[in-house]
Amino acid sequence: MKLTAIAAALSLVGLVAYWQWSGRRRTGWMVLAGLVLVPSAYFAWRQHTLELRLSEVVEQVSGRTGANANCQGFMREFRLDNNLGEVAFDGKGGTSTTAQVRGGVCSHLRSFIGGGAADPSEDQTIAVHVLTHEAIHVSGITSEAETECVALQRSKEAAIMLGAAPETARAMGQWYWNEVFPRMPGTYRAKECFEDGDLDLSPGDGIWPRRNLWSPAWKVD
Ligand SMILES: [Zn+2]
Repeated sequence: MKLTAIAAALSLVGLVAYWQWSGRRRTGWMVLAGLVLVPSAYFAWRQHTLELRLSEVVEQVSGRTGANANCQGFMREFRLDNNLGEVAFDGKGGTSTTAQVRGGVCSHLRSFIGGGAADPSEDQTIAVHVLTHEAIHVSGITSEAETECVALQRSKEAAIMLGAAPETARAMGQWYWNEVFPRMPGTYRAKECFEDGDLDLSPGDGIWPRRNLWSPAWKVD
């Protein structure tokens, strides 16, 4: 899809250039080509810059160099069944380096970033959690229950990378734990997922979902 779109755009640019310089100007067609090309270029650029930003998060949270995020959207089509995001598993315990994210989730992430990552909506909070959840899969965890439990403790790292203040990021993880996690299907809720449980990444610190592990090195401008 992406290559087809780029090829079509380049052909159109070539055609306009040919009309312009061959002396056979076709103004009406050239205006029409501009009306297609300009918005297309804008949406492609917008999606590309968002994916770059989200890819940094997936790479950092997963710890896998070269990991990236793909958004469903103008330049990219893929099936996601009913999921908000997906990471392909190879059936032998390995996972893909690509987090595939539903277009609507990417839209909420875009508005979260655009709003300065302050005062996040519920949809934006869930979107940050979904991105983190997929990043945890990319790190090599295939169990949904374990992935979900690790993600709800580490989503604050993703929120901070996307611009949130540490306190905002912590509150987002807390809200997810209180409001969304209890409503998740059983396959997503590990019985070891509680403060000081086996899946507590920082047991004994008296804080749940987790102490803020933000490191200044993760700050992304
Ligand atoms: Zn999952």
